Amino acid sequence: LAMLALSVLSALVGIIMRSLSFRQDFDITQSDYAIPFMLALIFAASALLHPASHALIAAPSPTARTPLLYRFATISLALISPVVLITVTDPFDFQDRVIRSISVTLLVIVVMARVIQSIRENAIAQNNLMRSALTDSLTGLPNRILMLEHISTALQHSWISNKRPTVLFIDVDRFKNINDSLGHSTGDNVLTHVASRLLLSAPDTATVARISGDEFVVLDPTTESPTQSVLLAEKILDSLRTPVPTSGGDMFVTASIGVAYAPKGMDLTADQLLRHADTAMYRAKDAGRNCIALFDDTMLDLVTKRLDVETSLYRALERQELRLVFQPIVDMTLGVVVGFEALMRWNKDSESVPPAEFIPIAEETGVIVPLGTWAINDALQQLSSWITTGVVTPATTMSVNVSAKQLHDPEFISHVRDALRNSSITPDQLLLEVTESVMITDASQALTAMKSLAGLGVRIAVDDFGTGYSSLSVLQHFPIHSIKIDRSFVQRVAQDSESSMLIRTIIAMATALGADVIAEGVETDEQMRLLLSMNCVKAQGYHFFRPIDAEFIPQGIAEIQNRDTWLDNVTK
Ligand code: C2E
Ligand code: CA
Ligand code: CA
Repeated sequence: LAMLALSVLSALVGIIMRSLSFRQDFDITQSDYAIPFMLALIFAASALLHPASHALIAAPSPTARTPLLYRFATISLALISPVVLITVTDPFDFQDRVIRSISVTLLVIVVMARVIQSIRENAIAQNNLMRSALTDSLTGLPNRILMLEHISTALQHSWISNKRPTVLFIDVDRFKNINDSLGHSTGDNVLTHVASRLLLSAPDTATVARISGDEFVVLDPTTESPTQSVLLAEKILDSLRTPVPTSGGDMFVTASIGVAYAPKGMDLTADQLLRHADTAMYRAKDAGRNCIALFDDTMLDLVTKRLDVETSLYRALERQELRLVFQPIVDMTLGVVVGFEALMRWNKDSESVPPAEFIPIAEETGVIVPLGTWAINDALQQLSSWITTGVVTPATTMSVNVSAKQLHDPEFISHVRDALRNSSITPDQLLLEVTESVMITDASQALTAMKSLAGLGVRIAVDDFGTGYSSLSVLQHFPIHSIKIDRSFVQRVAQDSESSMLIRTIIAMATALGADVIAEGVETDEQMRLLLSMNCVKAQGYHFFRPIDAEFIPQGIAEIQNRDTWLDNVTK
């Protein structure tokens, strides 16, 4: 740069000397002013040959740009000075006039070119910004905002045609489990696979979007009846049936799909239509996942009902609407009750709300934390009174269900300690049941809590075992004392060999972990025999007892332990 500057300076000196010599003000000869011109050439050549010269032509890095104000000042000066010079002085002759015109034209062209370049750069940058704000970076699909616009346009166009839009809300089943147990890169891999399957199976007229984590939306503006909408949803559900290849092997991914069709004559906004599809999707999840549900108006009632449950649940405890029922756990070889599982019941406005309905809401809203603490206290008090009155043996256990939210509560451990102290029950008689999924999602938090509980001497049972994605390698880190075989396997044990294989595997796994096994949901004599033949000793289920109110327990226990068929049954 210094060489170039010197070259320009020398040329300038040469030009001035030459002008002075022409005006004959001074005595300057041609050989005098040739010197600065020669110097200018030498400096220019040196600059061009300098090793750093290529840096001059390389694109300037955006951070190394000169400050805006400085650039503005130099450009203005460079523009204004020639213009001022040209306007304040009169041209000498025709040639001068031509040169001035050409100079001004060149100046205008340069300025125009720069302005056009700036505008284009700006437009490209804005376009990129818009695109990244409206599409999802993982899959490149439109996001929620853009999808709502598409739905809105589809609804507007549908007024003038017979075609009506269909919106499908697709949620990948148990995606959080996949993500947490197999890692985020596998999770991302699954999502991109799902996205490309959706794109392939959706018709050309449809738009596919990813609106959040594991939620996709498909819009087809050309359907003509709800039947067509459902057919479209089935096609999409079908496309997900082939397993997704991941680094850890093939993986089966299912989804729940909510379908909303915008009927004619109904004034719906894009947001409402999407919400309808979302509501229907929850219905599909409730129906057992991997299925389709079509939105209808009664689902709106469900949403209001849910809201009602949510608000009344907050007051249920103080209004004493909650109580516990108890299901005895029996030793099938001895025919004696060795423990109980406490299960919550809610009488809302003198009608009973099933736990499957209110427990998930209590978990979502966090109300489960006080409810759960109440349950532990109440269950232990109850056990203590049965032991003192001699209804059960002093070693009888009490199992209480615990949700993830409770484990995350920093005061949970001290609440458990207080409950044990108040009831004078020894810690190893309390079994806290946590589901398998709790150990996969937020594993580290669950682990800390479970270790402190185990430190108190409390025992931990894995509930609904076999329904999650956990593995021996995950479970071995947790302090586990019991494994509860999920009802679904027990109930199929007599019909299919797969279930009995699975139960055998679970029992082997429990042995490896040093845990005992409890079978859930034993309903028939045959199931009991098969379980006994596999060395599963403890069980609960309607075959022995349904969950009953505390007041009926003494009578119930006496009855079952005195069943004279009991031991015959077992030994037969
Ligand atoms: P869970 O922990 O798996 O409880 C066992 C469920 O199976 C109970 O349903 C019980 O009534 C039912 N059951 C027992 N034996 C049989 C049988 O032989 N056949 C059939 N078909 N079912 C049987 P329930 O009482 O409706 O509870 C449902 C779920 O609600 C429980 O599943 C548990 O996850 C949750 N829950 C209940 N009480 C509490 C609680 O106090 N705290 C928490 N966090 N969850 C609770
Ligand atoms: Ca349980
Ligand atoms: Ca269970």
